[in-house]
Amino acid sequence: MKTLGTASAAPGEFDTGRLQVGETRDGSEFGLPVAVLNGADDGPTLYVQAVSDGDELNGLGVLRRAIPQISPAAFSGTILAVGIVNYHAFQVAEHRNPIDDTKMNRTYPGSESGTSSERIAAATFEAASRADYILDLHQGSTSRMLNEARVRCGRRHRLHDDCLELAKVFGCGHVLDQKGPDGQLARVGPDEGIPAIDPELGGAIGWDEESIRYGVDGLFNVLRYYGFLDGSVDPDPQIRASGFDRYGSPSGGLVDFQVALGDPVDPGDVLFEVTDPFGQLKAEVTADDSGVFWRSRRLPQVATGEYVCSVGTNVSEY
Ligand SMILES: [Zn+2]
Repeated sequence: MKTLGTASAAPGEFDTGRLQVGETRDGSEFGLPVAVLNGADDGPTLYVQAVSDGDELNGLGVLRRAIPQISPAAFSGTILAVGIVNYHAFQVAEHRNPIDDTKMNRTYPGSESGTSSERIAAATFEAASRADYILDLHQGSTSRMLNEARVRCGRRHRLHDDCLELAKVFGCGHVLDQKGPDGQLARVGPDEGIPAIDPELGGAIGWDEESIRYGVDGLFNVLRYYGFLDGSVDPDPQIRASGFDRYGSPSGGLVDFQVALGDPVDPGDVLFEVTDPFGQLKAEVTADDSGVFWRSRRLPQVATGEYVCSVGTNVSEY
């Protein structure tokens, strides 16, 4: 029997349930929606979660589409899945948990007696720490971003190669290999000896069909490569960036991008222009370093100093 919260599945079974974490402000108990898929044959365990940030729904789109396609009878091992991690933020379609105004992915491994976010982190990390591989499905929030996977453990970590392999197998085409801030699941997982990545499935308001397809393909690549499902995977080379330059606007106005997501950029290339409301050019911002145009704001209007875009730098292929 494999269990997660109230979901419990014998070999060859699938079950859904709730992982109780506490009570809402009106005293109702709440639980995160969870699923257990227990394969008919023994094998490894995959932990996968979505909506750690409450406005990032593509990962939920991946689970909702992929899970019904997997037959426990033809599966080796176990999937432990949390469909919606950031319960409170999801309810109000916000990025951060409104109960404590915290970003969930800074609170791992969490605390059973801590803040709202820390308690959710602790409850989900208990499940993640039972796995052999961890996928924490994110996206570039509501910005525009290419589809990529993040390796967050840092290049000196003993599991760095394992995490890079997992990112390559997931196979979005781009990998950001850069040590993340404290409290990220993709950092804490490797510290527990579990390869973990943070696939970033584009960026969208609501669903994005293309990014959901990247995520579904990535999940099935992982399941086939690591022996959960029959079939073989020959991972494609990935474009890896290990730096990430952020660009802000030198003036207020309206942004026009001169490059598209995924474009290579060289130093001096114009990334974007800023005009006034009547099309008069106010500023032109060029790339400092070579790299790949990685992420951009969605809304055209910017204030002085406001975030506009990011370029992945120190690019190589692996
Ligand atoms: Zn996120």
